[in-house]
Amino acid sequence: MEKLINNIKKLSNIQVKELRAIRRYLHKHPELGRQEYQTSEFIRNKIAEIGKLKITMVGKTGFTADLVQSKSYPWVALRADMDALPIKDEKNVPYKSVNEDCCHACGHDFHSTVVIGAAKVLYLLKDSFKGNIRFIFQHAEEPIPGGALDFVNQNMLDNIECIFGFHADPKLKKETIGLIPGWNTAQSIQWKIKIKGKGGHSSRPQNSIDPIFVGVTVINELYSALYRKLDANNPFVFTVGKIQSGENYNVIPESFVAEGTLRITSAKNRDELLEFMNNSLKTISNKWGTSSKLEYIMGAPPVNNDIKKTEQIKKYIDEIIEKKQFVNIERSMGGEDFGHYQTKIPGVFMRVGVGNNKLIAALHNSKFDIDEESIPFAVNMMSYLIIRYFNDMNNLN
Ligand SMILES: [Zn+2]
Ligand SMILES: [Zn+2]
Repeated sequence: MEKLINNIKKLSNIQVKELRAIRRYLHKHPELGRQEYQTSEFIRNKIAEIGKLKITMVGKTGFTADLVQSKSYPWVALRADMDALPIKDEKNVPYKSVNEDCCHACGHDFHSTVVIGAAKVLYLLKDSFKGNIRFIFQHAEEPIPGGALDFVNQNMLDNIECIFGFHADPKLKKETIGLIPGWNTAQSIQWKIKIKGKGGHSSRPQNSIDPIFVGVTVINELYSALYRKLDANNPFVFTVGKIQSGENYNVIPESFVAEGTLRITSAKNRDELLEFMNNSLKTISNKWGTSSKLEYIMGAPPVNNDIKKTEQIKKYIDEIIEKKQFVNIERSMGGEDFGHYQTKIPGVFMRVGVGNNKLIAALHNSKFDIDEESIPFAVNMMSYLIIRYFNDMNNLN
């Protein structure tokens, strides 16, 4: 094992400068989701330099690169995302974004760089394991629906035993890692309630059907009743973010629209809550004679780490890092479309520290940056855990 660790570290050390240049190039030339044409081409060229990896396009810009050793060997996948955000880059660095109002403020440039680095290490060390690897370079993680769905729908997970992924975390110091079993992120559901009543003069409500009254009654019920409905072991958040109705102070309007988000952490909760929302709306609306509609757009399912595989991966990571480099992380009510993969196959998603004392900007902030020393650390870790995963598997067989 020690020899393997040394070999991996040697191979990532010789790539340090090149990987930093790759990351800086990607950072300087960010592209939004589903528009990552140059990013995708640049990464495919880097993959081609490594050796013979079979490329398959997914959507217009996403792709997979397969390291195939033998059809009889098991498969795992390692995923990176490639898209940037519609945010102005406000850093003062040589690799500042040259594309106006577009910035790698979520660290997807780091993710892609690390997977390129790991692909090279694993390619060069392929004689030391019996397995096939699908490197996933995913487009459009940020928009809804996320690009991960395209990979699922194109059957890119068929025959894959396990998928690994990771996210840069500026709250964690460089060269640290956080990994927890079960749910890690929430599913965000964007909802919209539309209520249609009958407008009229504010002095004669008996001649109108007041949609504001009905809308406010529905919202009040949802704010209180939802939290009385479900098991508190599966947290969720219901928030109204926008209400629109009426134009004049003395007129009862025709319609009422409310919009917001529902963030859930279990699929069972999601279905029950949406049903409850719909029933509340229909019941209250029927009582007062308005017509109503609930519409929603589903975000990616929660990132949900397979319990057994998480334990297994933790064991491998323990072998390559020191105890203090394993840090506690909290679950998040934010979203990440890696959850789409985990609805199909078991997966493990990690958080990799990219922070230091000077870098304080959060993800999605216009000044977000990473400590580049986290690149070789992440390359070592991803390469090692994949080789160990295969070696363990083959010993078991
Ligand atoms: Zn993001
Ligand atoms: Zn992200």
